[in-house]
Amino acid sequence: MVGPNEQRTQHSLFSGTALSPSMYGRIPMTNSSSGFDGVLACHDCDLLHHVRDVPAGGKALCSRCGALLYRNHPDGLNRVLSLNLAALICMILVNVFPFLSMEIAGRVEETVFISGVLSLYQLGMGELGLLVLLTSLLFPLLGILGMLYVLLPVRFGFRLPGLVPVYRLVRIVAPWCMLDVLLLSVLLAAVKLLDIANVVPGIALYAFVALVVLEAAAYASFDRALLWPATSTDAAGRGGTAADAELINCHTCALLVPASMLSHAGKGNCPRCSSPLHRRKANSIKRTWALIISALLLLIPANIYPVMTVIRFGHGEPSTIAAGIEHLIEAGMWPLGMIVFVASIIVPFMKLAALSLLQVSVQKRSGWRLRDRTVLYRLTELVGSWSMVDIFLIALLTGLVKLDALTTITPDIGALFFAGVVVTTIFAANSFDPRLIWDHRK
Ligand SMILES: [Zn+2]
Ligand SMILES: [Zn+2]
Repeated sequence: MVGPNEQRTQHSLFSGTALSPSMYGRIPMTNSSSGFDGVLACHDCDLLHHVRDVPAGGKALCSRCGALLYRNHPDGLNRVLSLNLAALICMILVNVFPFLSMEIAGRVEETVFISGVLSLYQLGMGELGLLVLLTSLLFPLLGILGMLYVLLPVRFGFRLPGLVPVYRLVRIVAPWCMLDVLLLSVLLAAVKLLDIANVVPGIALYAFVALVVLEAAAYASFDRALLWPATSTDAAGRGGTAADAELINCHTCALLVPASMLSHAGKGNCPRCSSPLHRRKANSIKRTWALIISALLLLIPANIYPVMTVIRFGHGEPSTIAAGIEHLIEAGMWPLGMIVFVASIIVPFMKLAALSLLQVSVQKRSGWRLRDRTVLYRLTELVGSWSMVDIFLIALLTGLVKLDALTTITPDIGALFFAGVVVTTIFAANSFDPRLIWDHRK
């Protein structure tokens, strides 16, 4: 159970970072710790953990729900900074050079990264184009620039205004950065187009592959302790959950703030980072139900209406998600068909079923498999964005297939409803508070 790189002990864990006091001493703090003997609360189950050393490269996991509490990356700050800088350079290359070239009957057309977005806009599907633009370009760019904005001052010892709002913005856009999903869609589009054209990858495509790898590595290397000490010494000696100890876990900087600091209306701000404090996500159950029901309603038109029309040699008709998968399998592209099937049908249904199960079990105050249900929640959060594969695929095909007068691919209204399903399910997963699983039990 416990490998050399992870440490799990009952009720007490943790820490040991590459942090030196001088490194975080530059960050504004009002309630900071001076050492590693503090306490922090698990963000998924609220259990308090005492901080202990973790070996270099190791991580500390929650003893109750298995959530990642803390990582110890030696030289983490330099690593995250260089990964983000390299990602920024790749991001520029991706948008400057040709992405894919299509060669049909001796004619070659080069497409750029945002061709799909422009085509969607020209075809009157501006909303879909905007979603693709945000998730594949603007949010990832914002994430990279935001990280550099908050970390460069820490590295070089100066201060910039707005550290907390910028960091919070980076956190908000993180679930909407879908470069990895887009990469899968690019591969699928290339496979699908091979039967009508010769597809030649451009420089931007290679840069894009590098960007996906760098972004994932940068995300995995970042630890909030680079900005704020991970622990609160004020809470030392307390046991149980943060709620039991009348403490509130700041969502932004992870400081444990005494609940007495909240107003009668339950409102207040973190003394260290000024972010609004709340015991649990506001109206979590109601909001999550509203979003689950919206997503279920949107699933109906998303599956009834056609998502895309492919016309070849004057023939073709609009096809729904299910018909599209059938065509792919009939054409012998069954691996591609299976991927689209899993992303477009299995993932949204499983996600809604999982969230409904979590909601009902919390409302029934069930004590059934608490840890497994927390893991189920984390999985639901993780797989949600992969449903975007189909939307990206449609955008790419629309953008790429312009050269061949004999073939046209256009998006249809069903794609818009399906995009609505993806967006509402991501919001639904975000609005659920996994700590309720542990709070509400008999
Ligand atoms: Zn936990
Ligand atoms: Zn805070």
